[in-house]
Amino acid sequence: MDPNLSVEVLPGVGNLYSKKLNRLEIRTLNDLIYHFPFRYDDFSQIQNIAQANPDEKITIQGTIWQIKNIRTPRGKFLTTATVADQSGTVEVIWFNQPYLTKILKAGTPVSLSGKLDPKSPKPKLIAPSYEVIRTSPAVSMAPDTLHTGRLVPIYPETEGVTSKWLRAKIGSILPIYTKTLSDFMPQDILTRQKLESLGQSLKKIHFPKNYNEVQTARERLGFDELFLTQLASAIRKRQWLSLRTAPQMKVIPEKITQFEKNLPFTLTDAQTKAIREISQDLMKKTPANRLLEGDVGSGKTVVAAIAAYIAAENGMETIFAAPTEILAFQHQKTLGEILSPYNISVGIWTGSKKQTGTVTCGTHALLTTFKAKKQIGLVVVDEQHRFGVAQRAKLFMDQSSKQSPHLLTMTATPIPRTLALTLYGDLDLSVLDELPVGRQKIATFVVPGSKRERAYGFIEKQTEEGRQAFIITPFVEPSETMTSVKAAKDEFVKLQKKFAKKVKLGLLHGKLKSKEKEGIIDKFKQNKINVLIATPVVEVGIDVPNATVMLIESAERFGLAQLHQLRGRVGRSVHKSYCFLFTQSNSENSLKRIKSMEKVYVGFELAEIDLRMRGSGEIFGLKQSGFFNFKIADITDRKTVSAAQNEARLIINQDPDLKDNKLLKEKLNEFTSQYSQPN
Ligand code: ADP
Ligand code: MG
Repeated sequence: MDPNLSVEVLPGVGNLYSKKLNRLEIRTLNDLIYHFPFRYDDFSQIQNIAQANPDEKITIQGTIWQIKNIRTPRGKFLTTATVADQSGTVEVIWFNQPYLTKILKAGTPVSLSGKLDPKSPKPKLIAPSYEVIRTSPAVSMAPDTLHTGRLVPIYPETEGVTSKWLRAKIGSILPIYTKTLSDFMPQDILTRQKLESLGQSLKKIHFPKNYNEVQTARERLGFDELFLTQLASAIRKRQWLSLRTAPQMKVIPEKITQFEKNLPFTLTDAQTKAIREISQDLMKKTPANRLLEGDVGSGKTVVAAIAAYIAAENGMETIFAAPTEILAFQHQKTLGEILSPYNISVGIWTGSKKQTGTVTCGTHALLTTFKAKKQIGLVVVDEQHRFGVAQRAKLFMDQSSKQSPHLLTMTATPIPRTLALTLYGDLDLSVLDELPVGRQKIATFVVPGSKRERAYGFIEKQTEEGRQAFIITPFVEPSETMTSVKAAKDEFVKLQKKFAKKVKLGLLHGKLKSKEKEGIIDKFKQNKINVLIATPVVEVGIDVPNATVMLIESAERFGLAQLHQLRGRVGRSVHKSYCFLFTQSNSENSLKRIKSMEKVYVGFELAEIDLRMRGSGEIFGLKQSGFFNFKIADITDRKTVSAAQNEARLIINQDPDLKDNKLLKEKLNEFTSQYSQPN
């Protein structure tokens, strides 16, 4: 069977269904087979209400008939509900969770686990754990061997495509699919890693006999994802190193030391180490491809400045790309201050202004439009979340010497080391994991709705004292759209009414012209605007040390690392600074997640928390990148990540072009196009 055939070859799947399936990213038979369950219903253990045993923990499934909140005389909340299955009804009570009535409504199918109250004459469940079920119990319990008497797979669904439907289709093609399948994974890897065959694993992930089978299937399929990722990056790294040479620079240690001494501050140990690592890169004939990671304020700029200094000493230019024009100008100023004592000119190259220097700053567009006078020795890319830079850096290959520049990317996004290892397996990594001494902690509060007014009052008071504030409107979409602009405008209008004339407000969003943006930021810097209302998209990197309050709306929509970056915009002066997080969410988990901002002040730790609570896809827009969206693999699982990396390196060393591993090569192509990496 050709797994690349369209799903439309299946009986009962016409144009209509194939459109629906497309919404689940299912186009081919292969996609269908790789549409994995996200959980299983263990139907063998579900009881009828009428026969439930009061002495043991039970699980029942039924529908909510009615549910309401009652307030006790002591001011506590009780939620009471009646739930019915085919056999009878049960009363349910929860304590102090009034938001339950928002999640569980009359008609909602639920699964409840808990103990019956032994004292109650009628069946009564006390504070059971609950779960809304997506398929109605009546459907799932239909007498069909795929759907009962086993662990029943529950799939991501879409309107008109139920788990039951998917189960039937997958169940019908799985035997033929696996029969004609040849495993792409070399046998010796399977043996070494104690993994099962692909066919067996696919069967078990969909229709396991027990949870052990689920586990073995997940081990194999998760390993596949990590291994293929590592393989792709090992190949990239090899190409990067073998196809190109780079200008080998001389580094004179005494000069670096002198440079460091002339700085107005002492470098942190982490900075010194990073500088050492980068200098060593620059001395090599192979082009560096290094990621410099460090929290907001950890001092990445000066590290890059020293690298640019080395390049200049070697008679080469550096280009420095920032994510926005505003930041490009800011960098030009900062780098200018650091480098001017050494007669190194720092220029700017943007849509509106073109003035080349030995170091030239610009936006990322610079990477494609810039025309250098001399050889470019170093490319620095700041705040890099996107991929494909390595590719673009190639554009700067010097035509006469055939040399590529060294590449240094910098990010404030605290990517946990494990993740960096997986994600940037082909990069070298330097981490600034300490802040310069004397940085203050920003007092952070998740503010309940009832205290919203107080927070505004507090901001007003701060402005009376001469301070300033940011108000960040909800994160609506990953890129600036009219929706997010509207959210910001609405907020602006609302707050103008509230603050009357007492506080001067400004509005900043990505749809403004760059002149307008600059104007607003200038006014904010001069405190002619006291409070700046901004969309999350434009927030990056504005440096206004007089700002002491960062208020963020709908904080639950942001990743913790993102919140942390936003918070880093304040606390940049001697004045005590604050971060207020507003949320509309009632979800316990989501509150717990953003509350960690009150206690944790290290970007890396926050990113780890997000990784645990939301999965990798949710952090810093990796999901949007489309690259890092594993179905099974757990990238925090260091052991498997490094096993996959070792196996990938091994095979690439033996068979660099995968000539002897044709199946693997095919699979890799399929995998990389699916997780399209523009690199
Ligand atoms: P980021 O890593 O966020 O890009 P910057 O490079 O903008 O951080 O540095 C933030 C601020 O800290 C700048 O004003 C910079 O001059 C200052 N700085 C950098 N390194 C040190 C240090 N070792 N000690 C004190 N201040 C420092
Ligand atoms: Mg920076």
